[in-house]
Amino acid sequence: MQDPAIDHAAISRQVIEIVARALDRSPEDVHPSSKIWSNLGAESLDMLDIAFSLESAFGIRLPHTDLLGRASDYFGEENIVQGGALSEFALELIRRVMPEFEQKQLRAGLTPMDFRRAITVESLVQVVIRLLEFKSQLVCPACSARFSDSKTAPELECVACGLTQAYPSGEQALVAGLATAARQIGFPGPPPNTIATSADSRP
Ligand SMILES: [Zn+2]
Repeated sequence: MQDPAIDHAAISRQVIEIVARALDRSPEDVHPSSKIWSNLGAESLDMLDIAFSLESAFGIRLPHTDLLGRASDYFGEENIVQGGALSEFALELIRRVMPEFEQKQLRAGLTPMDFRRAITVESLVQVVIRLLEFKSQLVCPACSARFSDSKTAPELECVACGLTQAYPSGEQALVAGLATAARQIGFPGPPPNTIATSADSRP
């Protein structure tokens, strides 16, 4: 599954540089385990800046919602948040989809706000890696050759026939992981192929 062309250390360095620049910090102050909101003091506008820079640097489209937003869309919010805290199902989803998340925090009573404030730089790195892996597996619908990043526009271009295609949406790329995890947990949610295609119609 892991694409040998995807170099975790190099991606990590690049993400750290982007985060440091957006927050006016030295890259030495930013570590994979740094919590973006609570340790580094990011605000919403900083996150937009970081997201835009990651998209340009890696040729990806980040999802518009985080894991909890995506999970609420697909499994129903009532299955994700119960009484103001994350449900046992949500905690188990996070354990499986974000193994880099500090596991001891994943206990009953964790609120969505606690969860978001504990997101680390490493989680950003992992999202970038998953989106790069997803992109590398796409094949041209016309001739089945691979895509590469277009040299002239932020889009994909078939290496054989030149067909161009928009970068896949982050939601589309990441929901497959949620669906797999839900199946493993035994959650009786919608079948993965019906949810995985819902983002295909974006312009
Ligand atoms: Zn082609």
